[in-house]
This record gives sequence, C-alpha cells and structure tokens, in this order.
Amino acid sequence: MSASLAAVSYIAATILFILSLGGLSNPESSRRGNLYGMIGMAIAVLATVFGPRVGPSGLAWIAVALVIGASIGLYLARTVKMTQMPELVAFMHSLVGLVAMIVGYASFIDPSASAGMSPAEASIHHIEIYVGVLIGAVTLSGSVIAFGKLSARITGKPVLLPGRHGLNLAGLLAVIWFGYAFVQAHSIEQGMMPIAVMSVIALAFGVHMVMAIGGADMPVVVSMLNSYSGWAAAATGFMLSNDLLIVTGALVGSSGAILSYIMCRAMNRNFLSVIAGGFGGEAKAPAKTPGGAQPAGEVVAISAQETAELLREAKSVVIVPGYGMAVAQAQHTVFEITKRLRDMGKTVRFGIHPVAGRMPGHMNVLLAEAKVPYDIVLEMDEINGDFPDTDVAMVIGANDIVNPSAQEDPSSPIAGMPVLEVWKAHTSVVMKRSMASGYAGVDNPLFYKENNRMLFGDAKKMLDEVLGALKG
Ligand code: NDP
Repeated sequence: MSASLAAVSYIAATILFILSLGGLSNPESSRRGNLYGMIGMAIAVLATVFGPRVGPSGLAWIAVALVIGASIGLYLARTVKMTQMPELVAFMHSLVGLVAMIVGYASFIDPSASAGMSPAEASIHHIEIYVGVLIGAVTLSGSVIAFGKLSARITGKPVLLPGRHGLNLAGLLAVIWFGYAFVQAHSIEQGMMPIAVMSVIALAFGVHMVMAIGGADMPVVVSMLNSYSGWAAAATGFMLSNDLLIVTGALVGSSGAILSYIMCRAMNRNFLSVIAGGFGGEAKAPAKTPGGAQPAGEVVAISAQETAELLREAKSVVIVPGYGMAVAQAQHTVFEITKRLRDMGKTVRFGIHPVAGRMPGHMNVLLAEAKVPYDIVLEMDEINGDFPDTDVAMVIGANDIVNPSAQEDPSSPIAGMPVLEVWKAHTSVVMKRSMASGYAGVDNPLFYKENNRMLFGDAKKMLDEVLGALKG
C-alpha cells in the first residue's frame, strides 16, 4: 500500500471514529456508532499492517500477534459474563498502559528510532518517551488495582497511607528531577537509570492513587482510567510517529475526561477531591440531628404474590434497576413484566441513575439488550419529580442509588450524592437477597421506611414469580 493511500485510509478511519463517538452518545444510534467504530478499526489495522512502514518480514510477526490477540479476544467475549464487564474493561486499560511502557522502552533502546535526529529533535523524542512511559505506568498499575477492586479481589474501601499527599508530591518532584536527567543523558546506559526509577515511582503512584479511592467514587476511577488509557495510546502514537494513534488516543482521552466530569456531576463530587481519595471509608460519627439517626425499625417483607397484587392495583409504576439486576440477569423478565403491565393500561417507566451498576451506562445496555423501548427509560433528573405521583416504585437489585441518607444524613459517606427518591412513591418495593449494604458499604434507611416493602430473594427468581402471579 502506498504512503498516500495509507494516509487517506487513516483520515477515513479518524472520521469513522468521530462518527462512532457521536453515535454512541444516544442509545438509538449506538448500534450504528458501534458499526462505524468497527469499520474504522478494520481500516486502521489494514492500513497499518499493509502500510509503507511494515516490511514483508514484519508481516509474519504481526500475523502471529493478530492470531494470539484475536483468539484471546474471542475467548473472553464468549466466556466473560455481563457482570464481569467492568473488571474486563479495567483489565483492558491496563494492557494499553503496558503497551505504552513497552513501546517507550523499545523506542529508547532502538538506535534507529532516533537516527538522524538533530539534538533538539532527540530531546523532544526523549520527552515523548518519558511522558509516554509515565502515563503508561500509572495507567497500568492503577487499572490493575481497579480490576482488583471491581472484582472484589481487594477491598473496595479506600486504603490511606499516612502523609499520602506529601508522598505524592515527593513522587512528582522526583519524576520531574529524573525527567531532566533522562533528557540530558547522552547514552542508553545513562538514560536507563532515570527512566527505570521513574517507572517504579509511576507504578507505585498508580497503586497508591487508586487504593485511596473507594466506595461510591469508583465510577470516577473507571472513567478516569479510561481517559488515561487514551492519553497512553496518544503518547504511544507520538513515540511511533503514528498520526492515527495520536488522534484516536486523544479522542478516547478527552471523551474519558468528559465522562469523568459527568460522573462527578452526577454524584455531586468535585473531581480533585475524588482524586485526593479517602471517600467511602469509615462513616463519620453519626449526626446528632434526628435526620442523621442510624437506620432503625422493622422491615416489612412481602411475597411475590403480594407484589403482583400491588402492581395490579397501581396506575403508575417506576422501575429502578441496579447492580443486582445485572447479577441476576433479570432484565428480560423485567421487560416481560413491563409489557404485561402496559397491556393492562398502566404507565410503566424506568428511572436510571448515572452510576447504577458497575460501569457507565450499565443499566442502559442491559435494558437495550432486553429491547425495552428507549422512550420509557428516563434519567434520574427526568423522573425524580414524578415519584410523589407514582403508585409503586420497584427497586430491582439497587441499593446505594436509592439511599435516602444521601439527603437526610449529613454525616453519611454518601451525603450530597443525588439519588432516586423512590421513598416518595406511595409504596416502594425493594428486591434484594438480604439486608446487605451496596457497593459503598453504607446502611440504607429506605428499607425501614413505613411505605417500603422488601421482596427478599434473587431478582430473576422473584420477578419470574411476580410475572407468573400477574399472568395468573
Ligand atoms: P449497589 O452495589 O449499591 O447495590 C446492589 C444491590 O443488589 C446489593 O445491595 C445486593 O444486595 C443486590 N443484589 C446483588 N445480587 C442480587 C441478585 N442476584 N438479586 C437481587 N439483588 C441482588 O448497586 P447500585 O446499582 O444501587 O449502585 C451502584 C454502586 O456501585 C454505587 O455505589 C456506585 O458508586 C458503585 N460503582 C459504580 C460504577 C459505575 O460506573 N456505574 C463503577 C464502580 C462502582 P443483596 O446482596 O442483599 O442481594
């Protein structure tokens, strides 16, 4: 493939990636967006593999790498459960970080990479390598820790070292100092020590940063690492002088940054305070105000049969899905119930919290998979005002996103986070297996409210019973 054809292909791929992002911003156009992305990626891979920079001897290596990568990808796509997607995404981010590091080291020790460069160009090349390895290392170790936290292999609570801000600052100063030494180095031997020390510091910083963030702040970590992986890819593009990789990385990096901002806004949190960490740990002392009292009282359990009765009598129903719906894979039964209720003339809508589940858009994906019409799926802000006029609010495997202590208890770790106000409905029914707390580890006073009923059991099993009772 000639250089000009490769350049045209890169431009086509870039346009397709931008169209893909545009399509993904709306559920109705998201399939099309995915298709654009896939076509764009196919063009990008073909133009790179058959482009002018890969010789015939390189093709064999690339073929081997493609077969290995595609086999792992196929295997994962077939075996990974939907509930494991968040940790899989975190794992993928770590690979982008690893690649940025490897490419950085390779371009540093490869004499041909900087052959014929003027001293100024060589310095810029060194800065690209240093920054690329730095971002890659933070992304790698941060994503591995996020993977551990999301898969519950390590504690979801923040782990805070004494003097952690001082440690981070010292790390930053050391990274700048070694960066100077790296750019000044005249040989590979001289440069190896600064870049190796920086790599260790950056890896430690990634671990430290993500360990310190926990509880309900994890959505921001996921989107932030998504953003970092984009910048790591862009840095790799600079090191390889590959324009498409730079553009693609910048697209991922900036869209991840926008997503982090949206997540922070949805949780009423400040981005810097999230990054500073410490949220979601031990609750502060309970407030002395009546609203700040710990949950107390009795929970009223209800059967599937009684839930079906409540639904039969209701005119308007709002369904609030959460992580438990994903675990139980109950979305198809939820839609069956929705169809049944709508056939009975009832208004049924869904209320989606921005951080419901374990990854951005988790609930929307599940509901789209079950073919729930988009027009009855509303965002938190759109539906919150309607709860007082709702007869039954059905909470399916959700917990933190419907926790009234976010509004009522200023001492709660989730104080200030906007939540779906299901307790304002005439009756709320919470479907979950036990009284266990949600991801943030915070007690939920909703369960003890007078107008709340608990339907204990696996969401899929319970909903099957509710559907059976509705049909009967
Ligand atoms: P939560 O984790 O707060 O609650 C889920 C509830 O589902 C649990 O209390 C659990 O209770 C119940 N559950 C689990 N399995 C089942 C099942 N098979 N059947 C019925 N119920 C089940 O989830 P939410 O969606 O309410 O809130 C999301 C939380 O995750 C927030 O704290 C958010 O910050 C955090 N988070 C979100 C991310 C994102 O990007 N969206 C990323 C990382 C974290 P029980 O065990 O009693 O059944």
